Amino acid sequence: MKVQAAVHFEKSNELVIQELDLEDPRPDEVLIKTVACGVCHTDIWVQQNYTNAMVLGHEASGVIERIGSNIETLKSGDHVVTAYNWCGECEACREGRTWECDSFNDSFDGLRPDGTTPLSLSGKPVTPLMREGGFAAKMVCHKNSVIKVDSSLDLRLLGPLGCGIMTGAGSVLNYLNPEPGRPIAVFGTGCVGLSAIMAARIAGCDPIIAVDRLPSRLELAVKLGATHCANGENADIAKFIKSICGGVDYAFDTSGSSHLLDAMRKILNPGASACGVGIGGRLALNERERREGKSWTTTDTGFSVPPLFIPKLLEYHKAGRFPFEKMLHFYQFDEINEAFEANRACTVVKPVVLMEGRAYL
Ligand SMILES: [Zn+2]
Ligand SMILES: [Zn+2]
Repeated sequence: MKVQAAVHFEKSNELVIQELDLEDPRPDEVLIKTVACGVCHTDIWVQQNYTNAMVLGHEASGVIERIGSNIETLKSGDHVVTAYNWCGECEACREGRTWECDSFNDSFDGLRPDGTTPLSLSGKPVTPLMREGGFAAKMVCHKNSVIKVDSSLDLRLLGPLGCGIMTGAGSVLNYLNPEPGRPIAVFGTGCVGLSAIMAARIAGCDPIIAVDRLPSRLELAVKLGATHCANGENADIAKFIKSICGGVDYAFDTSGSSHLLDAMRKILNPGASACGVGIGGRLALNERERREGKSWTTTDTGFSVPPLFIPKLLEYHKAGRFPFEKMLHFYQFDEINEAFEANRACTVVKPVVLMEGRAYL
């Protein structure tokens, strides 16, 4: 079939909307009519580093149009979101750590295990990022990337649950698992950091300290659950945070900034758990800090098993405890390059591209 898609052709900041060929779903795949797809910093990174033809987008929501013959858990008409792909067969998947799946890198590049892809242009393969490719009118996705959601919810909101939101909330709820009433600091309040703040409120952390250099983001952080804010450009953030609570038992970094990681190191209480997803920046604890029981871990995907964790987040959302919609900013499909620019420039927290045209609103 033919589909409209925003195609990345070479290292550039420009996506080109054009028609591609999309194969029918194989026995373990589904065909989804895309409703919306979030823009993530990973899309920007791929755009600037990959030279092959790709359809980006890995935070999609949509409606299943057709299912492969081997699928019993999904059906046509189901409302779904997409998330990272996992094989279900390797040791990590069998032990429930799907985020460590052996095939993660191949599926990140958009390839099936046999090296093929469902998309093409004039017979040449086009790869859908993470075997999703959400910036297209339709997607063919592997069944493990597809999570059914409650059809009473507004599908336009739900795509970002599958990456940025899951990563931030999962880092707190799945990894840090904080005790109620204990202090936490979150460094960087983009989509991932703000999701961590909402999760820290669900967990009952107190205080919840948000650190960022953008005042508008700190204002939103307070609306979503932060009890205190620190300006990330403050020369002595550690001193400021210590004046609030002495030190923290939990810390989460999304900035990768050496200035902020240095501040984080200074505020960790003995026994504190810290984690982060910042590309590049990691906290290297010394021997003495480790003896004091301090720890650091990188929590890509928030250690989330998407079909288990996303429905849990939606239960919090329905109860009014996880208002992630406050982070979203919508763009029409033909405004996709503006949505990417807004993400690059951090002028909005989470751009979401509506794939169904202007009539949809
Ligand atoms: Zn992402
Ligand atoms: Zn696996």
